[in-house]
Amino acid sequence: MAEVRLEQITKSFGALTVLPDLNLTVPDGSFTVLVGPSGCGKSTLLRIISGLEEPSSGAVMIGGQDVTLDEPSKRGISMVFQSYALYPHMTVAQNIDFGLRLARMPAAERQARVTEAARILALEPYLDRKPAQLSGGQRQRVAIGRSIVRQPKVFLFDEPLSNLDAALRTQMRVKLAQLHQSLDATMIYVTHDQVEAMTLADQIVVMNAGRIEQVGAPMDLYDRPQTAFVAGFIGSPR
Ligand code: ADP
Ligand code: MG
Repeated sequence: MAEVRLEQITKSFGALTVLPDLNLTVPDGSFTVLVGPSGCGKSTLLRIISGLEEPSSGAVMIGGQDVTLDEPSKRGISMVFQSYALYPHMTVAQNIDFGLRLARMPAAERQARVTEAARILALEPYLDRKPAQLSGGQRQRVAIGRSIVRQPKVFLFDEPLSNLDAALRTQMRVKLAQLHQSLDATMIYVTHDQVEAMTLADQIVVMNAGRIEQVGAPMDLYDRPQTAFVAGFIGSPR
């Protein structure tokens, strides 16, 4: 587990300033959900936390350590995207195992981790199948399995369910909540889906144009929005 703290983060792409000055604390072990309109900087923020993108200034702290200059692989973080490329020629087990194999982890330890991930994600019956033989929800669970086996302290999710239909999204919400409970990890989760945000989050961060409008528990934001933007955003169906 690890707290994630962003200190005075700025990010510009050329003349475009996407994050003017962002401060945020994501508590250790929390399920923190980031919401906000398309283009407000959510993905950029996740990429800065993961190290895929360098901030223009400011610091990224994980578990009290300044990781701003650390390689993504050194940060104890794992990111799950909306589009996930599974290897079509590999089985589910091989897909989940692949990153561990690259890291040259001993076979017995790898096997134990893959088995545990499959158990948590209810993928045991599918371990010998190829991705083409799976449903969308099962494939997304495999993608999450590849993250779990690396045992990150922090999981970053960028709209991981947005390609799934409504019924699968509901199933996966339940799975993600269970996952959070069983792994005891810090989760930072970007979504467009208000139901997802309200049901999964213990803390919701509302962003608008690269700034944080409000941070609070779901019912706090709902009952006591501090700005018209938050009231409009949280209240409106989408
Ligand atoms: P969100 O995930 O909230 O939809 P993004 O973080 O993807 O928003 O994008 C925020 C803004 O930054 C957008 O205006 C986007 O066009 C811009 N942006 C993101 N990545 C780059 C990049 N690599 N180069 C230039 N502009 C970018
Ligand atoms: Mg995005």
